[in-house]
Amino acid sequence: MSYARVLCVGLVGVTGHLVEVEADLAAGLPAVMLTGLPDAALNEARDRVRAAIVNSGQEWPNRRITVNLLPADLHKHGSSFDLAIATALLTGAGSLPAGPLREVVLLGELGLDGTVRPVRGVLPMVAAAVRAGATRVIVPVENACEATVVPGVTVRAVDTLRRLVEFVRGQEPLLDPLPAAPPPPPPRLDLADVAGQPMGRLGLEVAAAGGHHLALFGPPGAGKTMLAERLPSILPELDDTAALEVTALQSIAGVLPPGSHLVRRPPFQAPHHSASLASLIGGGSGLARPGAMSLAHRGVLFLDEVSEMSGRTLQALREPLETGQVVLARLHGTTEYPARVQLVVAANPCPCASPAGDQHCTCSPHARRRYRAKLSGPLLDRIDMRITLRPMRAADLVPVDDPATPSAVVAAKVSQARKVAEERWAAHGWQVNAEAPGPVLRKPPWQLPPKDTTDLRRALDLGLLSARGFDRVLRLAWTLADLDGRSRPERADISEAIQLRMGESHEWAE
Ligand SMILES: [Zn+2]
Repeated sequence: MSYARVLCVGLVGVTGHLVEVEADLAAGLPAVMLTGLPDAALNEARDRVRAAIVNSGQEWPNRRITVNLLPADLHKHGSSFDLAIATALLTGAGSLPAGPLREVVLLGELGLDGTVRPVRGVLPMVAAAVRAGATRVIVPVENACEATVVPGVTVRAVDTLRRLVEFVRGQEPLLDPLPAAPPPPPPRLDLADVAGQPMGRLGLEVAAAGGHHLALFGPPGAGKTMLAERLPSILPELDDTAALEVTALQSIAGVLPPGSHLVRRPPFQAPHHSASLASLIGGGSGLARPGAMSLAHRGVLFLDEVSEMSGRTLQALREPLETGQVVLARLHGTTEYPARVQLVVAANPCPCASPAGDQHCTCSPHARRRYRAKLSGPLLDRIDMRITLRPMRAADLVPVDDPATPSAVVAAKVSQARKVAEERWAAHGWQVNAEAPGPVLRKPPWQLPPKDTTDLRRALDLGLLSARGFDRVLRLAWTLADLDGRSRPERADISEAIQLRMGESHEWAE
C-alpha cells in the first residue's frame, strides 16, 4: 500500500484544529493533486514541497500523487502544512518508515532549498495539538521556544527537511529547543518621571484599579502621552490564562521575539491616527494578522490625537470595544480574535491646539462644537473618565515638594484595590468595577445612602450628567473607595468621581 498519514494543526482565529495530512501514491500519469486547501495556497505548497524534497537529496516519486488535508470543511490558511505534506509524501512513497512519526504533530514551512522556516501561530497550534491528545511535536527551530510554553508536550526542533529525514531513518537526532531568553526587564517607563498633573496621575491610578477607559484632554506638551504610556507600569502582571492569550496573539501576528517565553506584562499598543483599518482591526491574506486592537488584548490601546482619526476608523473601533472581540470578514467565513482592551484616548481641547491652553484659543465657537461632536458619538460614550490637563507650569517641572510617586508604589495600591473588587464581584464573574452594570450599582445591596449621592443627583438634575454618566460616576466612586481601603464609597468619593467624569472644566459634560 502506498499510503501515509501525518498530523498537523490548522488555525481558525486563535483556535487550532488537528489536521490529518494523507498521501496516496498510485500508478498512472505522474501528477500531484492537493485537496483540502484553498486554491492559491494549494499551488504554492505543491511547488515548495517538490523543490524542498528534491533539494534535500530525496527522490521525487514519479507517480500519481494525491495529498488530502482533513477535515475538508476546515478552512486552512498559511504555509505551516508544508513539512507535514512533504513527510506524508515521502512516507507514502516508501522513502521513510512510518513508525517514528506516528502520532507526532509536524509544523513548519519549507523553503525551496529544503530549510524549515518559522511559521506564525505555533503556540496556539501546539496548545490545540495537546488538547487533541498529542504528546510530541516537531516545529521549526525558531519557533521551538514558544512551543515549550505549552505544558504536557515534548518539543523537538528541525532546521531542514534533510534533518527530519535522517532522524526518521535513525541517522541523526533532532534539535533541542534553545534555552529561553531571560525574561524582559521591568518596564522602563515610570510614573516618577511625570511632573505635576495630579488629576492626570489620579485618573491613571483609577483607570488601572477599576479597568476604566480614560480620555485625556489638554494642550500639546501637557504630558498626555507620557501619562498614557505609563499605564502598563501600574497594571498587575497577566495571570496564566491571559498570558497564554496574549502570547498566542503575538505568535499569530509574528511579533513574538525569538526565544521569548510567556508574555507576562500587559501589552501597550499606540497606533498612529492615520493607521489603516487593517493594521488597527486586523486582516491580510492567508492566516489573518491580528491588528493593534487584538495585540492590545488584556492591555492598553492608546489612541493619541484621536480627533484626527477618520470617522470610518472611529466607527470600526466601536463594536470591538463593546464586544471585546474583532470579527474579520474572510474569503471563507469569518475569523475572530479577542480584543478586550483598556482604552486611553488623548486629544487637544480644540482644533487650534494652543499650547497655552484655552486662554489663547483662536477657534470659533462653531469650530469647537464641531470638534467635540465628532468625538462624543462613538468613543466618548464608552469612556468613564474625561480628564483635562492644564498646561505645564514652571512649578510642575521643578517640584518644590516631594518627588512624584514611582510606579511600583502605585502598582501595589492598584493591585490591592483590584483584589477587593474581584472578591466583591466574584459571584457575578466580573473582575473590575468597570464591568459592573449601572442597574446593579443602583440597587441593594450596592445602592448608596441618599445623603452620599446628593451631589450626583443634583448634577443629573442640572443636566451636567446623563443617566449613563450617572452610572459611570458610581463605578468610579467604587474604585476610589477600593483604592482608599473603604468598604463602600462615601460623599467625598462621589464628588471626586464627578470631577474625574467631567474634568476640571465642564466642557466635555454631556
Ligand atoms: Zn482653539
